[in-house]
Amino acid sequence: MPLIIVTGLPTSGKTTRVKQLEAYLRGRIEAEPSPEPEIELGGSQKPTAAHQQQQRLPQDDHQQQRQEKKRKNSKSRYRLHVISDATQGIRRSAYDLAPERQEAHTRSANASEKDARAALYGAVKRALGPRDIVVLDGLNYIKGWRYQLYCEAKNVRTPSCVLQVGCTVERARRVNERRLARRAGQVGSKDKSAEESGQRNSKAIGGREELEEAAATSAQGEGDDDDGSCDDMEEPYERENWENLVFRYEEPNPMTRWDSPLFTLIWEDDERRTRQVFDSIWDAIAGESRRVVRPNQ
Ligand code: ADP
Ligand code: MG
Repeated sequence: MPLIIVTGLPTSGKTTRVKQLEAYLRGRIEAEPSPEPEIELGGSQKPTAAHQQQQRLPQDDHQQQRQEKKRKNSKSRYRLHVISDATQGIRRSAYDLAPERQEAHTRSANASEKDARAALYGAVKRALGPRDIVVLDGLNYIKGWRYQLYCEAKNVRTPSCVLQVGCTVERARRVNERRLARRAGQVGSKDKSAEESGQRNSKAIGGREELEEAAATSAQGEGDDDDGSCDDMEEPYERENWENLVFRYEEPNPMTRWDSPLFTLIWEDDERRTRQVFDSIWDAIAGESRRVVRPNQ
């Protein structure tokens, strides 16, 4: 199933949007009719472990495993995977090209970034399958890399799309500065309350109620400094690394095959707009208008 490539400047709100998208997609997946009826494993009372042990025959084990697998798989039409630097254990420093921060005997200046991309690519490749929706949360700032991912999706005959998370450079920089300050232990209590309001605004959005609540708190918090949160324990980028990544960022171009369809969400987008964009993404990847991908396309 489809690949959703998320892209945007560093600290521009990508993971925040991915959490909202994840909740939205889970809701849509649950609402989808199951492809097969669920298989009942037995009566309403679960057998005890001792009982199971007593009764178990070698062929039962195998049969039970097969039934359990079938039951799990038949539960929903799609499976959702979110892949990111965090899930792959990739640190911010992997993107740092500063010579003084390179490890001794490193292959090249961007060796760690190449390794990071290889790890992400492997994870995407393993997850992509006929019933899998894969969301790749990351910078994904190199157009050649997005092309490679697009080709991978095409290889498994599944659609791909790009979600660009837009935010001004100044705002994104403020988020990173705040994280740097927090790391240095400089965040005071005044900053903390401002951060809390940012956190409320950017809370993961799923069902309609959550969307409405997030919109209401967003309206209350207008004008607040919402560039961070006290629960935000994300690692900052070193200043130079951050500036470099902004400089190297290659904007997606909807005129190219690998960056289309392109969806955009900006920092200020409210609940209504966010839902519209998520609906369009769903439509493109799993809905009626899902394009048929043929190997020779
Ligand atoms: P990225 O994944 O691009 O590095 P994050 O999603 O971690 O960025 O967001 C950085 C910070 O900005 C977080 O503390 C988050 O709470 C806040 N934030 C992100 N997007 C928004 C938004 N649309 N409105 C308010 N705060 C936001
Ligand atoms: Mg992130």
